[in-house]
Amino acid sequence: MATPAAPAAGDNRPPSHLFYQARLRRPLASRAEGIYIWDETGRRVIDGSSGAMVVNIGHGNPRVLEAMKRQMEAATFIYRLHFENEPAERLAAALADRCPAGLDRVFFVSGGSEAVESCLKLARQYAVATGQGSRFKVISRFPSYHGSTLGALSVTGHAAFSAPFAPMMHEMPKIPAPTAYLDRDGLDMAARGRRYADMLEDEIRRQGPETVLAFIMEPIGGASTGALVAPDTYYPRIREICDRYGVLLIHDEVMSGAGRTGRYLGGDHWGITPDLVALSKGLGAGYVPLGAMIASEKLVRPVLDAGGFQHGFTYAGNPLASAAGLAVLDEIDAHDLMGNAARMGALLKARLEALKPRFPFIGDVRGKGLLLAVEFVSDPETMATLPRELNAHARVVDLAFERGLIIYSRRTRGGIDGDHFLVCPPMIVTAGEIDEIMAILDDTLLALARELNLPHSA
Ligand code: PMP
Repeated sequence: MATPAAPAAGDNRPPSHLFYQARLRRPLASRAEGIYIWDETGRRVIDGSSGAMVVNIGHGNPRVLEAMKRQMEAATFIYRLHFENEPAERLAAALADRCPAGLDRVFFVSGGSEAVESCLKLARQYAVATGQGSRFKVISRFPSYHGSTLGALSVTGHAAFSAPFAPMMHEMPKIPAPTAYLDRDGLDMAARGRRYADMLEDEIRRQGPETVLAFIMEPIGGASTGALVAPDTYYPRIREICDRYGVLLIHDEVMSGAGRTGRYLGGDHWGITPDLVALSKGLGAGYVPLGAMIASEKLVRPVLDAGGFQHGFTYAGNPLASAAGLAVLDEIDAHDLMGNAARMGALLKARLEALKPRFPFIGDVRGKGLLLAVEFVSDPETMATLPRELNAHARVVDLAFERGLIIYSRRTRGGIDGDHFLVCPPMIVTAGEIDEIMAILDDTLLALARELNLPHSA
């Protein structure tokens, strides 16, 4: 006889059989449209984090719903080893079109971890197929997040996430994420960018270049670093170093890709062509589970010639997910949503910056387009963090939610603790809706300052 989990005190709902990471139960959602979600009591909240930076074109988009309905009526699932299907072919072509020249081979999956896992495995099979079987180490950054499957977790820089699984994984080398904004070394940003990139070269040499397969990074950080953007000098230098040592460059664009930052890929801001790209979240935009690995022909051909890519997932390239992905791209183009993300992102960032004088515990505002984060500090001069016991990252989320706004937060920073939250509304957000978001955030920060006794002016 199944025993459902008991509800918390004061929660009148029936017990639940479901469980996720924690015991906590959330309100029941009943409907979502545009940037809003309604719970079962009719209360409306703004989805200021697009779910987990997923619902890039907003909820309930008629074009996507219609395309999915049409595809469901035609065929929902066709197995790729039996037939090709047109939506998957068209989506692959559309993605190749949007990626830098040379990135033109697409492998579909159903999520971000699967996309990262696929990149790691294609990279390894390429090395084996080309007589470089000694290469297997994948260098990544600390902190970082690349997913929760064991392979993706082994390149994730977050001790608490990986600790229980350590004996089951191969420990992969990590270099510091380029948290140049924290440094007080007297160098200018250009020099700091080069210094962080050179840490990759040092690590490749320390490991032995003949053992290093790839370097994986989020071009614009996600939740792990709070929308971390490196100095401009970092990106081309990383590409140069990878080329010098024959190390493949993997861009994890799961959060930064699909247009959210104002360009289709985060790496496009610096004109970088990686060897492999992992894409998900905004690709299916929450309408379907969808992800992709995009690779260069240079990598794919030797693997296929050597007998094929030993990898694949049942749902890969199914027509329903592909049709939804195509309609998402059409919607982005039809309404210039990348342009809107750039414009509204600039407006939102300026408004967040403008909060600093009133709330001096805001140490940094960063990001690009609508991938933006705010970091809290106890002292903006030294950038010292707030005491952990204040639990500011969790409190700010709860206070915002009570006021009708969803934001996303974490407590990780440059290998040490630090509180930040992300504000990432859907790319359809309007200036009027940004006013709404800012009014709630203002009130939220005031409540947080009062509750935690942080400096502020009313
Ligand atoms: N990489 C990055 C940068 C991510 O942000 C995430 C998800 N937050 C993942 C990988 C893993 O994606 P998923 O949860 O869809 O497996």
